[in-house]
Amino acid sequence: MISFPEHIQKTMPYQAGKPIAELARETGIEESAIIKLASNENPLGMSPRAKQLAMHALDDVSRYPDAHGFNLKLELSKRFSVPDQWITLGNGSNDILEMVASTFLQPGTAAVFSQYGFIVYGQATQRVGAEAIVVPAKDYGNDLEAILAAVTPHTRVIFLANPNNPTGTFLPAAEVEQFLAAVPAHVVVVLDEAYNEYLPQELRFDSAEWVRKYPNLVVSRTLSKAYGLAGLRVGYAIAQPHITDYMNRIRQAFNVSNVAQAAAIGALQDEEFLQQTYASNRKGLEQLIRAVSALGIEYIPSYANFVLIRIPQANAVYQALLSRGIIVRPVGVYGLAEWLRISVGTEAENEAFARALEHALQTLKENGNG
Ligand SMILES: *Cc1c(COP(=O)(O)O)cnc(C)c1O
Repeated sequence: MISFPEHIQKTMPYQAGKPIAELARETGIEESAIIKLASNENPLGMSPRAKQLAMHALDDVSRYPDAHGFNLKLELSKRFSVPDQWITLGNGSNDILEMVASTFLQPGTAAVFSQYGFIVYGQATQRVGAEAIVVPAKDYGNDLEAILAAVTPHTRVIFLANPNNPTGTFLPAAEVEQFLAAVPAHVVVVLDEAYNEYLPQELRFDSAEWVRKYPNLVVSRTLSKAYGLAGLRVGYAIAQPHITDYMNRIRQAFNVSNVAQAAAIGALQDEEFLQQTYASNRKGLEQLIRAVSALGIEYIPSYANFVLIRIPQANAVYQALLSRGIIVRPVGVYGLAEWLRISVGTEAENEAFARALEHALQTLKENGNG
């Protein structure tokens, strides 16, 4: 008989947003007619420069990628003014989160994170047999005081997303910095900034500066969201070298493909595309909020590229939207059974969503379920 370690038996699979091709197979709706607002992807696609460099890199796929990602790290180290040894590349930032868990956690230790924190924090912790300490949220966001209070001598890692997914809440720089200064030295803080590029200029802060100041800080970023490279899987961490040394020992040597490394360089260099993405998202977020407000729907103000809206009949509305070719994200696994998370799409996609939502709610009402 094969036996599975207890912590593996308790590990749950990740529930991703429904892929477009899957809904097409299930409903017969053309893939091109399906709108996916479920995984916080960039509705504008990818930067043309990223695409150009990726296509060029295809000529070399018979070779292994550069295991040290020299050129990509060079690009990042210029951008953040940190030495390249401070950077760790990941197969998406998910990989970074897993690396942190594998580097610092083991049975008998604990990781602390917030209720409504990114689902991967719990999974990464569970996978290595450590204990997850989940701290109640405050107004759907991270409660820094409570997170600090939950730290014990066994705590090795704190996972903190800012802005937070799936709630879209944000903690200002001053609060985060005060928190970093108060975290005990034996605890590594992972500041997950997957949505940093969507913050308005006045809310941005220099998290690389914090890495210089706090030797227990790991800043995690991704090319999957604003940079539009979700399918290529590139993320990175910035931390001091006593941390990155060990993360790189456990990292799979070829975790980021040569095509992905090339595309990431192109994406980072294309400031114009990033600006377009930012502007399109601000407009789209306002558009979605106007639409749900007009329907009298409660929502959580968002600092990212998605918005969480309160729909008491979330599952019925999710299904009704699917039948009209629109994929959004149920968040029941987060304990938010009455909410749906809507990623910001293009203007036309947001409009189509708003009309389908209105129709779905109307139908529910007529059937006496509203
Ligand atoms: C999307 C997301 C990530 C990771 O995405 P990758 O594609 O693995 O880089 C990490 N953290 C949060 C909070 C996210 O929402």
